[in-house]
Amino acid sequence: MNGMKCACGKTAKYVKHLKFNNEGIDGWKCDSCGEVYYNPEKAEKILLLNKLRKHKYHLKLSQVKSNLILRIPKEVGEALNLHKGEEVEFSLRDNDEIVINPLETSDLK
Ligand SMILES: [Zn+2]
Repeated sequence: MNGMKCACGKTAKYVKHLKFNNEGIDGWKCDSCGEVYYNPEKAEKILLLNKLRKHKYHLKLSQVKSNLILRIPKEVGEALNLHKGEEVEFSLRDNDEIVINPLETSDLK
């Protein structure tokens, strides 16, 4: 990644480890004026995930034969980059909490 032109006229350098809403992100930082430019695609994703984290979904379980089916909302699947046919890790936390972890490493990690 190369530098990009800063608003002050100097060149902002590419930085791999910046902080944006407490998340790691890459972007460009100008040493001259201190201005920071975040990778826009990742910044958008972080904002979306922050929004989704505050949301509690009420989902209805369906059933196929003896298995219960849970439908993951589209926006969550998209934000976490989940696709049909992929495997997720499914486990219990405590006695009444289910944890689903995507096995594919997302580009945010
Ligand atoms: Zn600058």
